[in-house]
Amino acid sequence: MDKVYKNCQSCRMPLKKSPNGGGTNSDGSTSTKYCDYCYEKGQFRQANITAKEMQEFVKHKMKDMGFPGFLASLFSNGIPKLERWKNQN
Ligand SMILES: [Zn+2]
Repeated sequence: MDKVYKNCQSCRMPLKKSPNGGGTNSDGSTSTKYCDYCYEKGQFRQANITAKEMQEFVKHKMKDMGFPGFLASLFSNGIPKLERWKNQN
């Protein structure tokens, strides 16, 4: 069995906030690891992004959504520890 994650292991968004509860695997099932915004049909939507770029992306996105800057920074600081980035340095 796959581990069930609470947050997307690419962008850290809570998976329950993902429109379909998660991205789609190549077999069409719902991913328990990545959200709709990051993952579709077994592929990352932003395949060549780095952890650092993802951090910036999420930080800006959160600010756009009205989150205070310190919170956006705090949240995005956890991104490099997620599964997608763990082995990428
Ligand atoms: Zn995501």
